[in-house]
Amino acid sequence: MMAIPETMQAVVYRGANDLRVETLTVPKIGPRELLVKVAVCGVCPTDIKKIQYGTLPPPRIFGHETAGVIVRRGARVRGFHESERVALHHHVPCLKCHDCAHRAFAQCAQYKRTGITAGFEPAGGGYAEYVRVMTWVLPGVVKIPRRNSFLEGAMLEPVNTVLKAVKRLALLSGDTVLVAGQGPIGLMFTRLLTLQGMKVVATDRLESRLQLAREFGAKWTWEVKSERNPKSELQGSRFKVSSLSELTDRLTQGRGIDAAIIAVPSDEVVREAQQLVRGGGNVLLFSHTRRGEQAYLDLATICADEKDLIGSYSADFTLQDEVARLVFSRKLDERRLITHQFPLEQTAAAIELAAQPTESSMKVVVSQEAL
Ligand SMILES: [Zn+2]
Ligand SMILES: [Zn+2]
Repeated sequence: MMAIPETMQAVVYRGANDLRVETLTVPKIGPRELLVKVAVCGVCPTDIKKIQYGTLPPPRIFGHETAGVIVRRGARVRGFHESERVALHHHVPCLKCHDCAHRAFAQCAQYKRTGITAGFEPAGGGYAEYVRVMTWVLPGVVKIPRRNSFLEGAMLEPVNTVLKAVKRLALLSGDTVLVAGQGPIGLMFTRLLTLQGMKVVATDRLESRLQLAREFGAKWTWEVKSERNPKSELQGSRFKVSSLSELTDRLTQGRGIDAAIIAVPSDEVVREAQQLVRGGGNVLLFSHTRRGEQAYLDLATICADEKDLIGSYSADFTLQDEVARLVFSRKLDERRLITHQFPLEQTAAAIELAAQPTESSMKVVVSQEAL
């Protein structure tokens, strides 16, 4: 049996923008549960929002893009062993209910229950030294191959959310797709769509991100300038255009793009995308997670032009093997995306950087690995 201390460090959310490093008891596990020592936990925009706006009652320990080592296995757990390196999923659907029958896994009642905790109301727990992995999320535990890192393991969850969204679009190979926003998630979309044979038009405000988008396979990039300087620049084109719509017209002989993925929480971008897609195309919202926001949209574009406005949220458990193959084979090489690693006690700084990205920052993680 591996030696486990009595207490551990954890970063506890005590209210809006109030994260404190505290000493807590290491979680106890039941006979059908695992105890995992956290190595890496990615900083995810959904956690940033919960922490900054204080949308959930404290105390909680956030962090759900978690990879680590199994240090204790409940007596009745089969298929896992101590000292195995694993990636975790904090949500796993029941696969039996009405929502699951419709493949609406993110709406399943069991799925909504967070199955990983470092203490308090379960909220992922990845910003702590140890997490308890509860019985119903054990089917979501993935072993990390020897040649892959904890960093790569921690990226399975976000990649899964991206693959799930792409599948909702029912694209054909060769289709032209706009990916608005080239943050870590936008870049995962760009890479994944390219791997599937789509032609990607990538947009962002930061040139450093567009550079990476081109390296990830984007055929064309469009630099969106700030309101004070409303000039946009195009790269990757042999012809000169003065607007994004002119570009997409040229690329599709005036037909319009097949789909647009909105990976920035901007309503203006949604309206623009709704103009750019062809009749019968799709606009997919990936970043509009803030409740209570109203927006204007010309509804005839949906009804008469059949431009479907759809959303996608969270992961699809049934895609997990495909996701693991993509990441661990490095076809979708996540290592390029991780630019900053913070120690556990600097989790607040990690979240701040992820919330206010710079030219040089991309995916930010909290790492407890002995570097
Ligand atoms: Zn996430
Ligand atoms: Zn269900």
